[in-house]
Amino acid sequence: MTTPVTTAPPTATTPAARTPVTDDTERALLERIPTGLYIDGRWTDAADGSRFEVLDPSRATVLGSVADARPEDGVRALAAAAEAQRSWGRTAPRARAEILRRAFELVTARADDFALSMTLEMGKPLAEAHGEVAYGAEFLRWFSEEAPRVSGRYATAPDGGNRLLVTKRPVGPCLFITPWNFPLAMATRKIAPAVAAGCTMVLKPAELTPLTALLLTQVLEEAGLPPGVLNVIPTTDPGGVTGPLLKDDRLRKLSFTGSTAVGRRLIAESADQVLRVSMELGGNAPFIVFEDADLEAAVEGALVAKLRNGGEACVAANRFLVHRSLAEDFGRALAERMAGYPVGRGTDPDSRLGPLINEAAVAKVSRLVDDAVARGARLAVGGGRIEGPGYFFEPTVLTDVPRGADILDEEVFGPVASVVAFDTEEEAVAVAGATPFGLVCFVYTRDLGRALRMAEELETGMLGLNTGVVSNPAAPFGGLKQSGLGREGGLEGIGEYLETCYVGIADPFAGGRA
Ligand code: NAD
Repeated sequence: MTTPVTTAPPTATTPAARTPVTDDTERALLERIPTGLYIDGRWTDAADGSRFEVLDPSRATVLGSVADARPEDGVRALAAAAEAQRSWGRTAPRARAEILRRAFELVTARADDFALSMTLEMGKPLAEAHGEVAYGAEFLRWFSEEAPRVSGRYATAPDGGNRLLVTKRPVGPCLFITPWNFPLAMATRKIAPAVAAGCTMVLKPAELTPLTALLLTQVLEEAGLPPGVLNVIPTTDPGGVTGPLLKDDRLRKLSFTGSTAVGRRLIAESADQVLRVSMELGGNAPFIVFEDADLEAAVEGALVAKLRNGGEACVAANRFLVHRSLAEDFGRALAERMAGYPVGRGTDPDSRLGPLINEAAVAKVSRLVDDAVARGARLAVGGGRIEGPGYFFEPTVLTDVPRGADILDEEVFGPVASVVAFDTEEEAVAVAGATPFGLVCFVYTRDLGRALRMAEELETGMLGLNTGVVSNPAAPFGGLKQSGLGREGGLEGIGEYLETCYVGIADPFAGGRA
């Protein structure tokens, strides 16, 4: 079977999907996606039979319902993971690699299903959803290649005596909690390295987007993942279901992607068992355009950095810091591009921007825009919700946004760009860093020295240099400060799922030769 060699992350400019989607296509897909809990290799109902509804944010209608895990289901899921850990941790790395490789091929072969599932439950346009399929699948392929490469080391102690043997072993059963904004990729970014390392796991997907996670589970089962290795428990009671697991001494690790507020709480809960934690949290990305930048390229990059995933991304550019000499031209050019941006349901081939996830998201984005305008920002384009069914918001550009406006301090998570002028490089660095977050910065400059100064000075886990997209499965994704702990993807990703053990060995020459 040939598989497309693409590592392209989702972008707002990915070409539109080819297959037209009809109501029948949607119904047929929804009928194919399992809707139970997946525990110990079996699809089951929740302990008390509860189910919850999954909504289509573009129409505010019900797509279907899935089993709603109760705390006892969570405990059953962890028991299955703990039971499977010993044998799974001892499987041949090549065997684990081949399961991941098959999963990559199956996800790729079912790209239309995965893309449509994400478009329906999360709202992103199909073309972008296809971008996420390629990105999410690539974690499966990347870590299939990493599984056989795990190794330790053997060394002579500095005094020439003992020998030092350092080995790696799987961390053990993990709990994964994922957000709704990238329903496939945020799951594969955790599952793939854990499978490669030999860990078992319980996945609790976001309650707003459980369908894609359940479809992925079906594919991983088909790829040959043994019972108990992956257990999946959607629930509307995330704290109630995961709380007992964090207190259970069979759990060894928590990996969470979501908001900093929830992450902070989970770190505190993880302290009881001194769990290993990986935290991929919120961001407040500055997008800095220096006076020597290529303005046209900066506007193109801004469009992608802002509108990719409808602005609902932790790496979305939140604050556009533009040198005063370019600020007006930049704001005007960006507003012109955003004004013509086609908004619509994600299945519409012309749509480039889908709805926000729910009513609360629309209310939050509206509040941030209104606050900025009330403080003196100028509305260059957009500014409000789009009336009708669904949770659509206009592509919006605010210029002359005053320092102190809430929109510069909070994650917008919507299609709103705020332009702020600066005068000096020092000022740009200071303003960029005036946030508790440190996930990603974008910098546009043609001055090599300045680019390198930014790479060293900005407090950020990732830097986009003359590009509006940094996400890549081959790169370590993660942030500094309150944006998180640990890295996902790249050579570093598998290390999050490995423990280091050291064996001290007596000097083999100490007693002379026999
Ligand atoms: P969220 O924190 O509200 O929810 C994330 C997950 O946590 C969901 O599965 C939710 O059910 C679960 N959750 C909520 N409360 C919980 C609790 N008390 N105990 C256990 N689980 C709980 O975030 P969200 O709205 O789904 O996602 C958006 C946020 O995620 C943004 O802040 C965004 O920046 C962040 N994010 C970060 C990255 C990254 O890699 N750094 C990637 C994507 C999203």
